[in-house]
Amino acid sequence: MNAPLDAPLVQAENLVRHYRVRRGGRLFGEHATLRAVDGVSFALQAGRTLGLVGESGCGKTTTARLVLGLLTLTAGTIRVDGEILPGAGTARWRSLRQVMQMVFQDPLAALDRRVAVGRQVMEPLAIHGIANAGERRERALAILHSVGLQAHHFDRYPHELSGGQRQRVVLARALILSPRLLVCDEPISALDVSIQAQVVNLLLDLQAERGLAYLFISHDLRMVRQVSHEVAVMYLGRIVEQGDPDLLFAAPAHPYTQALVSAIPVATERGRKRLILKGDPPNPVSVPPGCAFHTRCPMAVARCRAETPALRLLDDGRRVACHLAPGMADA
Ligand code: SF4
Repeated sequence: MNAPLDAPLVQAENLVRHYRVRRGGRLFGEHATLRAVDGVSFALQAGRTLGLVGESGCGKTTTARLVLGLLTLTAGTIRVDGEILPGAGTARWRSLRQVMQMVFQDPLAALDRRVAVGRQVMEPLAIHGIANAGERRERALAILHSVGLQAHHFDRYPHELSGGQRQRVVLARALILSPRLLVCDEPISALDVSIQAQVVNLLLDLQAERGLAYLFISHDLRMVRQVSHEVAVMYLGRIVEQGDPDLLFAAPAHPYTQALVSAIPVATERGRKRLILKGDPPNPVSVPPGCAFHTRCPMAVARCRAETPALRLLDDGRRVACHLAPGMADA
C-alpha cells in the first residue's frame, strides 16, 4: 500500500479555465469572468483511477476536457508521460490523443445510428491511418470480443443493441487505439441499474488486464468509492478534498464532502443523519470571497468570509481546503 508510485501518466498542474461572459447573460451586460476551473492539480498513474465528484457545474467535465486538450487552458500545464500536452490540432497532440480516449455518458448519442457498430469501432484506426482494411476488421472483432460482444454484433446498428451493449461498443471504440488513459464522464448514469454493475466490472477487468488509468466522473458516490484509488471532491472549480477513498468516505474532513457523503443511502435500520446544505451553489461568475463554500457551510466563521483556505495536507495524507479541518500536518 505504501510502495512508491510510478511516475504519473498524467500530471495536471494548477489548471485554470476561465470564460469571459456578459453578466446575467445579457447582450450588453457588463463583462465578467466565469471561473469554470480555478487551480486544479492532480497526478494519475497507470493502472489507477482518480474519481472526480461534486455537484453539476463544479468543473468536473471541464477538467476532463482540459486533460484531453479539447479545451484551451487559461493557465496551467498538463503533462503526459512528462511531456507538456501541445496545442489541440497539432500532429503531436493527435499522436498523444491516441493514448487518451473518452467514454461518454449516453452511448446512443456517442454512436452514429446510421452506421454499423463494426465500422464505428474501426473508424479511429482509419482516421489515424493504422493497418489495412482486413487488419482493421480483425482488430475490431478482437476488441469487441474483449468487451464481451460477439462477431455477429459487428454488423448490427446501435438501435438493435441494448443500452449495456451500446456502452460496450463505445468502450471498444475507445480501446481500439490501445489508449493508456480513459476519461469516463458519467459512463454508467444512462444505463439501467441492472446493467451498471456489469459495465463497472468490465472497466475494472480492463484496467487489470491493460494497466489503464481512469479519470472517472460520476454523481454516484458509491460507485466512485468502489472503482477509485483516489477521490477528488470539487466545488466551484476547485478541489476541496482529495485522498484515499476509504478515509474520505469514512471520515470526510471538509464540510462539503461531509454533506455529499451524508446523502449516500445506507442499508441500516437507522440510516445516517443527512446534512442538508442551504441553497444552491453560487453562480461561478460571482464566486464568494474567502472560502467559496462559506455561503452554505454550517461551520463557517468570520475568517471563512475573508480568507481563502489553501489545499493543505492532513496527517493521514489527505488534502483539504478548510480552515477548520482537523489534523493539519505542517505543510
Ligand atoms: Fe466551512 Fe470555513 Fe471550512 Fe470553508 S473554510 S469549509 S466556510 S469551515
